[in-house]
Amino acid sequence: MATYYNDNTIIYLNGEFVKAAEAKMDFYSQSLHYGYSVFEGIRSYKTVNGKTKIFKEIEHFKRLKNSAVAINMPYHWSADQLIDATYEVLKRNNLQDAYIRPVVYAPANMKFDVNENSFIIIEAWEMQPFLGEKLLRVMTSSFQRPNPKGFKIQAKAAGHYVNSILASQEAKANGYDEALLPDMNNNVAEAPGANLFYEKDGKLFTPALGNILPGITRATVLEICDKMNIEVEERFFTIEVLKQADAAFFCGTAAEVIGFESLDDYRFPLNWTESVSKQIQSAYKDLVVEKDLTPAKQARTKKIIPI
Ligand code: PMP
Repeated sequence: MATYYNDNTIIYLNGEFVKAAEAKMDFYSQSLHYGYSVFEGIRSYKTVNGKTKIFKEIEHFKRLKNSAVAINMPYHWSADQLIDATYEVLKRNNLQDAYIRPVVYAPANMKFDVNENSFIIIEAWEMQPFLGEKLLRVMTSSFQRPNPKGFKIQAKAAGHYVNSILASQEAKANGYDEALLPDMNNNVAEAPGANLFYEKDGKLFTPALGNILPGITRATVLEICDKMNIEVEERFFTIEVLKQADAAFFCGTAAEVIGFESLDDYRFPLNWTESVSKQIQSAYKDLVVEKDLTPAKQARTKKIIPI
């Protein structure tokens, strides 16, 4: 099991910086009992200039708020305040290449009604620099992503991740690296914790929004395509269509951009190193360490809905 903290690790807990090993949480919290909390997954990187930069920090803290509001959790923090707190957590833990996990959680409440207050923690732990070279063997999951008629699927809510855990565990139990889940209409949706793109004849495709988490990395890939004049289309498509693609990749804050070797028994025919997808991977890798700032400065294309 990974080690996330030690006796010296500091977390942000409701306005204070405290030791992770000594921090307390209410065991009667509605969040623990019902999976009723929201969170973010954020990365910071040591940039080419040696400084620590949280990648797309505003987008992540906006999504945290949107997630809380979507499931009726009170939310009373500003993005600025939480970004400052996050940099302070990184500094106090001497972290540069890190994974950052804010969680908004509920007070003690065994009922289902709305709370008057919410609480927040921000944790961070070390992450290895970019590891995207390995190609994945992916399995089509027997699980579908949660139906948007049953869940606020655009929210990064903890309870949704039981679905992710089931799908990922199933794929690994079957000898694969990761799962790919369809939506309730049997179109391709996303991975347990990442979005998907595929490449066909030099053009990229990605599932349209509606039944997936609107990924910040997905939006970044769309920006990179715009910048590099790579044609890209957001639409619904089936697993069968994906199995005619030249190449495919998952993208997410933690996964970054990571190519597929295969999906079930279909091997993607294009050599990864010769794919447009690989160019996206390299551009993303440069962007997060501020090697090339241009895409970040680009205006968002009208296709991308800021979240
Ligand atoms: N889909 C799911 C279900 C996820 O958990 C994640 C990770 N947050 C993503 C997609 C990718 O989102 P992002 O690029 O914002 O990390």
